[in-house]
Amino acid sequence: MTDSNHVQTLERLLEISRSLSAPLEAEQILQSITALAAESTSSELASILEYEPESGKLRFLAMPWFHRDVLRDIRVSVDHSIAGWACRQAKPVIVPDVRSDPRHDRSVDQATDFETRSILAVPVIYRGEPIGVMEVLNKAGQAHYTGDDLSILEILASQAAVAMENKRTRSQIQHSLDELSQLDRMKNDFISIASHELRTPLGLILGHATFLREIIDAEHKQQMDIIVRNAMKLKSIIDSIADIDNFERGVASIRRRSISIRRVIEEVADSFTEEAKYGEISLRVNMAKDDLHVEGDASKIAIAISNLVKNSITFTNPGGHIQISAEEVPGFVKISVADDGIGIPASDLPHIFERFYQVESHLTRRHGGMGLGLSVAKVMIEMHGGRIWAESLEGKGSKFSFLLPLKPDQADSSGRVFVT
Ligand code: ADP
Repeated sequence: MTDSNHVQTLERLLEISRSLSAPLEAEQILQSITALAAESTSSELASILEYEPESGKLRFLAMPWFHRDVLRDIRVSVDHSIAGWACRQAKPVIVPDVRSDPRHDRSVDQATDFETRSILAVPVIYRGEPIGVMEVLNKAGQAHYTGDDLSILEILASQAAVAMENKRTRSQIQHSLDELSQLDRMKNDFISIASHELRTPLGLILGHATFLREIIDAEHKQQMDIIVRNAMKLKSIIDSIADIDNFERGVASIRRRSISIRRVIEEVADSFTEEAKYGEISLRVNMAKDDLHVEGDASKIAIAISNLVKNSITFTNPGGHIQISAEEVPGFVKISVADDGIGIPASDLPHIFERFYQVESHLTRRHGGMGLGLSVAKVMIEMHGGRIWAESLEGKGSKFSFLLPLKPDQADSSGRVFVT
């Protein structure tokens, strides 16, 4: 090889090394490697084969384009081929004349209508393990392969190893992602079916238990009360799951009418007066204006505010404060529930609106709940075309806020509103 050829080869090698970290398809890189291998060893052609554990054979990964259709489906025996020998022994091999080498596998030549005369094959090794073979065929002018050719091919094979391993890792990641998304689909289907199927029997239990409570003697009323109370709890969990599920499947709907925000907030605050008093927590309402009106579904907005207030009471110690406030920001009403409770760790904050997410482990936590309150609140607000978010400092308190569009046609711009 002349000096200028040498420099060119080194430049191309450098290019290939750089391309290994670029977001190029592995096939493309391997194709460039084989082209450079053939060119720099003055060979008629070059190819890369990968060991396929499922078949125990070698399969072509990179090859000349005119053989691609035939070679793609061919598997080469590891025990009866020169490439197989190089892979199994993890050693390079130079065969000046394949006719006198019993290891030569003629089936590939027959399939491609090509005549192999000489071969230089080197193993492709990754972390000490042979993962394939790279070979060049038929050195020009009937010449023999040299030590220089071998060195070039070994360098190229080490580049091919990285590209092949990247390809393998990528396909493993893709496989895991596919499995995960299938599991996610199965989980969603299960939740969806379970929540809808549990509704009917639970409705019957509640109906009959309520009826029986009215007619049984006073002595057993207390037991009946326990049954009804717990069935109601179960109903509220199942309703929450079904609400989220309906929203995610796009079958949820709301009945819009002009509603008074003051009224909704005051009704929610009133319903928590006792609980707040019992927890020695002050619960205040602060409206920036006399009243504000939005087009929406009062019961759904009430559920969202109730879930926020319920959490604030749960996670605020005696002597603490909770404030529900409402103000108008251009095109929207902004409602916030702020407390000076235990706060939320920064690492959990991005996840708290996810279904079933709880900061404390379900097994160790002192409070009840299923990690559904905030996901339900989010669904209720997003059904109105609004959005909800949380700010919190651990040990200092939390503030949950949401925006409701004053008119339904403003809904889409809630993402662009200044929200702090
Ligand atoms: P759960 O009903 O189980 O409490 P949520 O979806 O309502 O579930 O809340 C998710 C998690 O977010 C809770 O487990 C809690 O750790 C945290 N969280 C919610 N609101 C507050 C708050 N006001 N203060 C502190 N932590 C909160």
